[in-house]
Amino acid sequence: MCNKIITDAVIVGAGISGLATAHFLTREGLQVRILEKNNRVGGNIYTHRVDGFLAEYGPNSMLDTTPILHQLFADLQIEDQVEYASDSAKKRYIVRGGRLHPLPMSPFAFLKTQLFSPRAKWRLIKEPFISASVNGHDESLADFVVRRLGTEFLDYAIDPFVAGVYAGLPEKLSVRSAFPKLYDLEVKYGSLIRGAIRGARERRKRAERSKQSARLLSFKDGMGALIRALEQRFHEEIFTGVQLLRIQQRNGGFGIAFRVNEEEWEIETSLLVLTVPAYAYAELPLELELTSRSLLTTIYYPPLAMVFFGYRKNPARIPLDGFGFLIPRKEGRRILGTLWNSSIFTNRAPEGGVALTSFVGGGRQPDLARLPEEELTALVREDLRDLMGITDPPDVVIVQKWERAIPQYELGHHRIIEHVERDEARYPGLYISGNFRGGISVSDCIKNAYELSQRVVEEHRIRILKMEGD
Ligand SMILES: Cc1cc2nc3c(=O)[nH]c(=O)nc-3n(C[C@H](O)[C@H](O)[C@H](O)COP(=O)(O)OP(=O)(O)OC[C@H]3O[C@@H](n4cnc5c(N)ncnc54)[C@H](O)[C@@H]3O)c2cc1C
Repeated sequence: MCNKIITDAVIVGAGISGLATAHFLTREGLQVRILEKNNRVGGNIYTHRVDGFLAEYGPNSMLDTTPILHQLFADLQIEDQVEYASDSAKKRYIVRGGRLHPLPMSPFAFLKTQLFSPRAKWRLIKEPFISASVNGHDESLADFVVRRLGTEFLDYAIDPFVAGVYAGLPEKLSVRSAFPKLYDLEVKYGSLIRGAIRGARERRKRAERSKQSARLLSFKDGMGALIRALEQRFHEEIFTGVQLLRIQQRNGGFGIAFRVNEEEWEIETSLLVLTVPAYAYAELPLELELTSRSLLTTIYYPPLAMVFFGYRKNPARIPLDGFGFLIPRKEGRRILGTLWNSSIFTNRAPEGGVALTSFVGGGRQPDLARLPEEELTALVREDLRDLMGITDPPDVVIVQKWERAIPQYELGHHRIIEHVERDEARYPGLYISGNFRGGISVSDCIKNAYELSQRVVEEHRIRILKMEGD
């Protein structure tokens, strides 16, 4: 016996991209079904509470860049659970010469900082006078930064920043795909500094915030609160533990066959939104000819290990008065950086305790992310001893190894996305989404889900009108 369902839209993948798309489509009056391979929803987002500590396996926070986030939170009635990062979390440290230096946040602090040499500062001040690249080719972030801001700024600002956001390498990432706003600043204004000033004025008009000025937020019970609310909203529409058997075109839409707990199901839908990671296209039983399929599987997701340490008593010899620190590759350390979770948000550690999350591996040293847990713990302890003076053993240790963590928007990424667009045009009703397209941050995934839902609804309406006219 096969169970049959007819619906307006099927969403494959129940990470934040899939769940938020389901939410915004439902808001527009469409019926949805969500198919998730794992036994839990949320994808990269997972919060774990143990002995009074709160550990995030994936994202620790998100940037409040767009009012769309608050629309989602209000719809889910979790606006009152939102927690903004403490004011002190605006302070971020970069390691240079084995010491933590605050990242300068004002022109005056920039002039005073020892993080950059006088030569590097002078080079940065000259930025508005450097002419824009004329050929518009797909340039790596590293080449772009060296050309506009100089080598030292690449090494001691951009390299650690990229490790913190993408767990990646600036020489591999494409500036136009991975940092489109930065790329556009040069195209539109001829200079990053000039563009940043004018862009801020334009954003104010749109009630949006730049990633630099946006506030960080999470929830009192961590990022998992967002997933729990979405899961409750869709508890009847989500299938977990799904094994997809077939995805094919049917009756002007799509037919999807899948198995859950030995039971077989078939869904007929007009709209199909795929939100699985790019590497998952290798295994999707797609009976559609997608030219983007093999290209998507080439997108690199480096391995990354999250190592959480909980201490009942503060063990640090330095003040934990900020967001945490990032480490430039030039420093030759093994961790990429450490978040001071209990300084950013309340409720991350028991009273008087400290919660720290360090990251190991990424594109910089992928093999380290695969070390056994005891070795990972030991190497994080060594780096934290040297940089924060911590000699006490942690009371709680949690290690999460992501074999494929974050998609790298490398040189040529926009060509892959062009193929994705062509495939969508070839199969009306098919949408390919996820964090390999339009930004990797949780806020970008939600914003993209909203924009996609608007596009889906509009195109769906036009198709229905056309069919009625025929
Ligand atoms: C360690 C780490 C730290 C991060 N930190 C931050 C941060 O602090 N701030 C921030 O903004 N972002 C952060 N990110 C990035 C952000 O979390 C992700 O980009 C975002 O959560 C991705 O959501 P998604 O839904 O696109 O993909 P995913 O979360 O990967 O979800 C895809 C879903 O598809 C499912 N799936 C796969 N194959 C199939 C199949 N065949 N059939 C059905 N379902 C399938 C998967 O099981 C998964 O549930 C971090 C990411 C990681 C890994």
